[in-house]
Amino acid sequence: MKPHGIMFHHFHDDYKHIRGQGSISTDTFELIISYLQKNYTILSADEWMDKALCKTLNDNEICLTFDDNLLCQYELAYPVLKKYNIKAFWFVYTSPFKGELEKVEIYRYFRSAYFQEINEFYDSFYNFIEKTEFNSEVKKALENFSPESYLSDFSFYTNEDRIFRFVRDQILKPRRYFIVMDSMLKDYNVELNLLREKLWMSKENIKELHIEGHRIGLHSHTHPTSVASLSFNDQMIEYKSNLEILSEILGEAPESMSHPCNSYNQNTIKVLEELKVKLGFRANMKNCSNAIYEFPREDHAIILKKMGMKV
Ligand SMILES: [Zn+2]
Repeated sequence: MKPHGIMFHHFHDDYKHIRGQGSISTDTFELIISYLQKNYTILSADEWMDKALCKTLNDNEICLTFDDNLLCQYELAYPVLKKYNIKAFWFVYTSPFKGELEKVEIYRYFRSAYFQEINEFYDSFYNFIEKTEFNSEVKKALENFSPESYLSDFSFYTNEDRIFRFVRDQILKPRRYFIVMDSMLKDYNVELNLLREKLWMSKENIKELHIEGHRIGLHSHTHPTSVASLSFNDQMIEYKSNLEILSEILGEAPESMSHPCNSYNQNTIKVLEELKVKLGFRANMKNCSNAIYEFPREDHAIILKKMGMKV
């Protein structure tokens, strides 16, 4: 296997940070680290980056990466990293520092906090769609849809997950999806203002990670689900504001990044070159070209599967 990153997102403690789809406990996180240490060499982010740039990474060398500046990562995963003395990459999108509540994360919280099972949420979601003008379009598009072949790179998705993602990303698309979800949130009386400090790290948290020797990298400003569908200029705005805000927090410009939702194209690569970013990560192991902006990453869910643990 080629050198790669391991990608982490959500952590739970069943107390402050609730369990959600794909979230792991600190115990599971420690088991993953032990498993990785047995089978690979975990390098610090610094060393991994230096070796990646000199093309001297060995096949068994990996690094740990955390996307989306989530407070649960800082409060739950970071203490474990301290215990094992591992320095990681943290890919940060910056709109939460500007007071914007990123819908993707809010909606995820809503799904976990207000529903026992993800399929319960899906049912409620489709019930809501039935009350909208999009109903017949969604019904029609699903008639000939076969979930097995959609997003087949992501082996851990259930068919229900695939159908939901198809409806969200291919049929409704962001604007109309937001309309449906926002009306659901209103119906469930979700208190949006309380969520900002609950879900995301503060600037101080990011700065502390940086000072402690972790590498902070770009992840766009607003975390679009499809960067590749944006124009060159819009992509530049996304990554330039991201870079400027992070540079101000860190006192230096970040040199690494990961692609939100694995979405990028030739324009993204040009933007990253112009912004003097040195290294980028994908969100899966496909096309392991190890091109400088396309280093592969394995999702922690796939590691858990390899370990024989329930995802
Ligand atoms: Zn992300």
